[in-house]
Amino acid sequence: MSLPYNQRTCYCGEVSAEHVGKSAILVGWVANRRDLGGMVFIDLRDREGTVQVKIDSDTDPQAHQIAHRLRNEFCIALRGDVVARPEKMVNTDMRTGAVEIIGREIEVLSESETPKFAVDDEIETNEEVRLKYRFLDLRRPRLQNAIRTRHRLTKVLRDYFDGEGFVEIETPFLTRSTPEGARDFLVPSRVQLGHFYALPQSPQLFKQLLMMSGFDKYMQIVRCFRDEDLRADRQPEFTQLDVEMSFVQPENIINVIEGCMVAVMREIHGIEVPRPFPRMSYAQAMADYGIDRPDTRYDLRLIDVTEIAQKTGFKVFTEAVDAGGVVRAIRLPGGAEMPRKKLDALTEELKGIGAGGLPLVKVAADGDKLIFETGVAKFFSPELTAETATAMKAEPGDVLFFSADTETNVCKYLSWLRQTIAQRRGLIPEGLWNFLWVLDFPMFEYSTEDGRHYAMHHPFTAPLDEDIPLLDDDNPGKCRAKAYDIVLNGTELGGGSIRIHRADVQEKVFQLLDIGPAEQRHKFGFLLDALKYGPPPHGGIALGLDRMVMLLAGLESLRDTIAFPKTHRAVCMLTEAPGTVATEQLDELGIRLVNPPDA
Ligand code: ASP
Repeated sequence: MSLPYNQRTCYCGEVSAEHVGKSAILVGWVANRRDLGGMVFIDLRDREGTVQVKIDSDTDPQAHQIAHRLRNEFCIALRGDVVARPEKMVNTDMRTGAVEIIGREIEVLSESETPKFAVDDEIETNEEVRLKYRFLDLRRPRLQNAIRTRHRLTKVLRDYFDGEGFVEIETPFLTRSTPEGARDFLVPSRVQLGHFYALPQSPQLFKQLLMMSGFDKYMQIVRCFRDEDLRADRQPEFTQLDVEMSFVQPENIINVIEGCMVAVMREIHGIEVPRPFPRMSYAQAMADYGIDRPDTRYDLRLIDVTEIAQKTGFKVFTEAVDAGGVVRAIRLPGGAEMPRKKLDALTEELKGIGAGGLPLVKVAADGDKLIFETGVAKFFSPELTAETATAMKAEPGDVLFFSADTETNVCKYLSWLRQTIAQRRGLIPEGLWNFLWVLDFPMFEYSTEDGRHYAMHHPFTAPLDEDIPLLDDDNPGKCRAKAYDIVLNGTELGGGSIRIHRADVQEKVFQLLDIGPAEQRHKFGFLLDALKYGPPPHGGIALGLDRMVMLLAGLESLRDTIAFPKTHRAVCMLTEAPGTVATEQLDELGIRLVNPPDA
């Protein structure tokens, strides 16, 4: 070791005017090299940023010789003098742009092959290649930033909950299935052949048991595993901030989480978010926005025009209403100027997600009267035009978009339309952090396909006190839950509920979910047992940590918040997991493959 790389004087990205006149020992990676013959310039990068190094063949021939053969991503140590850059060379885009290093001595600590892509935020590279070389990808400042934002976030969270008297407790990964609506990842047992552990979809049951053990306030930053058909932005393993408290009502959980989000926004963004956060019932969210996680940064609300639409005689409307459906509409101010082509394109896209079409009218003025033009205008008599215009608060220049179908479909189409229009027309104001609580979710969702109810949240969620009698009703679908979701700018950050703490209610809910007594015993016997020994009323919530980092760091992909993520096919490109295993390993587990993959 000719250069004491273990005695670095500061990080490359931290060299500043205060170091001018001093000698520095720096270590890092060659981010860029410009060879001008007698002079070599290097940008040296480490986790804090880059600094420019200049090596002159006249004054430092030996260092210059080494600099001459450096390549990008070589790992080097360097001794040099910090000098101020001449005024016209100052680079204000760079944190270290006021200084540079005159390199006196260089040692190559290790060489690098030419990377498959430039380690540079500006360069777009195929993501699969980036993920295969994730160790290089992670050298990019943007990802370094994301991973460190994640660290800061978890630290703020732990400090906050510690301050509020919460205890972080680890719960097992090798466990029994915890239903959260996904498939389980299974782990075969070698010791008990034919038996399997499930990786937890969440620590749900353990955190409830911890309440029964008297811990009172639990939190954990915890990995969860869900084997889902992956949509673009899901990971088979992801991290939750998991919370549970005893002797609480929704109010208490809401308070703790609001405090937590305020602390997070203050710490990470230096922003004071006003409390209390707005609240909305599930029913209102669906009626006004067609979605249970509305983005309230812009208006474009859904208006119900079922009654008016029925009077138009327009078949699309009347048939939907006769079949028990609804007609709702969105008013786009100034939308009348939208060219035909764009409107047609929207219609096609909506058809792509299942809609029959996109009936619309343009609003114009005829003297002091409003009239409808184009589209389905001819179905609106002057009276119906006036009635609709009033209901929609229409003004000349607007477009009114209609959707007529089942309520579920209308919500789906119009919420898509609302978001799409807002994004494309730039209607979403920058810099807003709209937190929102959505409350009073239905307990159950009915699947016509399967002819049965499913839990909307999970089977351990308590009904609203006043809705408990509905559990005995023929139509438990009306039963609302003590469940709540926290939404930020149209993204669900997390959700939770007050839990059932009475064995009889829990058994009834299981029953409604088609989980009979034998299956209850088999799958949840330990929970039902625990409910016999003085369970406290309790409830909690879980927030997606990856998503939180994504929003806070302004990233576009969840994968950028995770050091070693998987692709949308649940593959780790780096390690090539999942992989095949040796027959001996399967034999030990007593497993034989029905369709062994080709060797
Ligand atoms: N276990 C739930 C989930 O993972 C959260 C909760 O109810 O606390 O979504």
